[in-house]
Amino acid sequence: MNLFSLRTGIGYDVHRLVPDRDLIIGGVKIDFHLGLLGHSDADVLLHAITDALLGAASLGDIGRWFSDKDPKWKGISSLYMLSEAGKMLRQKQAKIISIDSVVICDRPKLLPYIPDMKLNIASALDVPADCIGIKGKTSEKLGFVGAEEGIESYATCLLAVGS
Ligand code: MG
Repeated sequence: MNLFSLRTGIGYDVHRLVPDRDLIIGGVKIDFHLGLLGHSDADVLLHAITDALLGAASLGDIGRWFSDKDPKWKGISSLYMLSEAGKMLRQKQAKIISIDSVVICDRPKLLPYIPDMKLNIASALDVPADCIGIKGKTSEKLGFVGAEEGIESYATCLLAVGS
């Protein structure tokens, strides 16, 4: 009998919006006058998804594997970190069933970029794009997101882990 267990994971991330940085979300460079600040490319969505996957597989969080104190990871593509997390999951016989996520910002509008984000994530993780959900939500101009001081993201995932 083929035994497996189902595991959920949750991830959250936030990065500050600043001038003179590219805005990269879901591995897509987005045309905007501000970008996200971080040690890596500061891809807030991919960091939330990576944390959800690592958490579901009991592999800690993104900082455990890609410390923002380590100069080796400066400017690194978050798609690379996501794909490395995917490899770690495969080594644990953990199969990704679904990922769902939300990115919260009032501007820019993310909808036109979501198909490319899904393709990037599907390719990095070697999963079908239709098991990935990405939603852009606004903050109704409330709080730090509404003030365009930062962008935040939440992600969940469901894994089937072999035993
Ligand atoms: Mg981050």
